[in-house]
Amino acid sequence: MRIILLGSPGSGKGTQATRIEKKYDIPHISTGDIFRSNISKQTEIGIEAKKYIDQGLLVPDELTLKIVESRFLEDDCKGGFLLDGFPRTLVQAEALDKELEKIGKSLNAVINLTVKDDTIIKRMTGRRVCGSCGENFNLYFNKSRVESTCDKCGGTLYTRADDNVETVTNRLKVYKDQTFPLIDFYGKKGLLATINGEQAADDVFIAIIEALEKVK
Ligand code: AMP
Repeated sequence: MRIILLGSPGSGKGTQATRIEKKYDIPHISTGDIFRSNISKQTEIGIEAKKYIDQGLLVPDELTLKIVESRFLEDDCKGGFLLDGFPRTLVQAEALDKELEKIGKSLNAVINLTVKDDTIIKRMTGRRVCGSCGENFNLYFNKSRVESTCDKCGGTLYTRADDNVETVTNRLKVYKDQTFPLIDFYGKKGLLATINGEQAADDVFIAIIEALEKVK
């Protein structure tokens, strides 16, 4: 299966990606995670990407494509993949089409998670992530049992640098300006499945699986 998860920041892509990855045994490729890992290792790519990420802007296409194109070539992607947070611009979507064409493969589905802006702001500013295992919690919707401590592994929870109100508002605007056109792009290709991301995470997952089973 080759799947794209589309949806504004805070629409629940990360949560659903972990579940889809397990169900279909395909690697979860998150460009945001790749950038964050580069930032924490202070690589050249990380230092450059941070300038944009901290402002809620998209990392330029050229740099983003550099990190993704090499990832597709890895062995674990032979049987498929789940893209989370990529593509985010038409240039990236067209580059992805070209890469897939080169290896003679095509996409099965593009899942579009829709969530209202005010829900997104609460989800993102309330988000707390485990520094050890990556598990997500939320101060409004899904608190950890012990403050600042991961229920799963006991690690310390942190707030992502780009999850403050100002950056979140920027990221929503950037999504509407630059990523929204992809809904039409994939809709025209007949690949789009739009799912209400306001539902409980379990119900969102059920709806995603129903959509994916039809195109398997
Ligand atoms: P995410 O974790 O997917 O919300 O990504 C965090 C940030 O990384 C975004 O706000 C962008 O600044 C950057 N980023 C992630 N994926 C991309 C992409 N495909 N194109 C450009 N920038 C990206």
